[in-house]
Amino acid sequence: DNPLLSAHRQIEDADAALRPKTLAEFVGQAAAKDNLRVFIESAKSRGEAMDHVLFFGPPGLGKTTLAQIVARELGVGFRATSGPVIAKSGDLAALLTNLEAGDVLFIDEIHRMSPVVEEVLYPAMEDRALDLMIGEGPSARSVRIDLPPFTLVGATTRQGLLTTPLRDRFGIPVRLNFYTEPELERVVTRGAGLLGIGIDADGAREIARRARGTPRVAGRLLRRVRDFAHVAGNGVITRAIADDALTRLEVDGLGLDAQDRRYLHMIADIYKGGPVGVETLAAGLSEPRDTIEEVVEPYLIQLGLIARTARGRCLNDRGWQHLGIAPPGGGVG
Ligand code: ADP
Repeated sequence: DNPLLSAHRQIEDADAALRPKTLAEFVGQAAAKDNLRVFIESAKSRGEAMDHVLFFGPPGLGKTTLAQIVARELGVGFRATSGPVIAKSGDLAALLTNLEAGDVLFIDEIHRMSPVVEEVLYPAMEDRALDLMIGEGPSARSVRIDLPPFTLVGATTRQGLLTTPLRDRFGIPVRLNFYTEPELERVVTRGAGLLGIGIDADGAREIARRARGTPRVAGRLLRRVRDFAHVAGNGVITRAIADDALTRLEVDGLGLDAQDRRYLHMIADIYKGGPVGVETLAAGLSEPRDTIEEVVEPYLIQLGLIARTARGRCLNDRGWQHLGIAPPGGGVG
């Protein structure tokens, strides 16, 4: 097997088991699905490769899943790799020249591709061509190779992380949003059915409510609560069992975990509510800045607990309330 393909971010087996296979099965993201349906149908009826797609949004919202669904619905092959894995432009050239007509090439974390590799993508995306340099020094010359028509599907946590020339070459940008509670409830119920887990409606709702708006988290919590249900009850997940298990797992009523709370406490306790720069927070929490910006903050912002300002991160009133601490200076925050 091609190591560039198999070295793709290790997808948990458990994740794969829960992956919806069709657009109809894919819960939520109505706007994205409606859009994709049109582009898929039109590409199929014209018998052409679909335009390049960029999925952007926080981790675990379904970017990889949707990329696979697009390939399946188009009835074409699916190849997956990721930006950091493609070390040399030759690696990407090898991937591209091995595609079959119409294939989907999925590049996860596409913003982490090296600039040299990215240059190879431009003509590939635009003209379905590869410009190769043959030889070195004064005798070097460039040779253009035609590529089969293909669809590039890129995934990134934030659209703004892409360089402008790369972003401009995606005809179909698709933003994924956090899921609503009823949507996550369907994700949980569906997952329980697939995994053979007994759960009642209130149990599903409790897990959904505390899943950080994210299907991957919902799936993870479901599996962990199941273990508690076997020990604590007759194996069926009820609201009480879910609540007890999640509390023990340190997932609070808003779905925040220990990492989220450490982040909030750092702003509250040490920086008096902010503003404080993200670098400072990252250093204080011993977390990479990327993790803070792409995993931790988006959901806290969505909940209105914190704000990103030009001068740094600030705790909002809701943030103080959630921590149960009075803001300094009597509630202006
Ligand atoms: P991303 O690529 O955005 O990090 P994935 O596509 O890997 O996210 O999805 C993570 C997990 O969540 C997978 O197990 C997937 O099956 C599940 N999942 C994601 N979106 C949905 C959805 N809309 N409906 C059901 N399950 C979903």
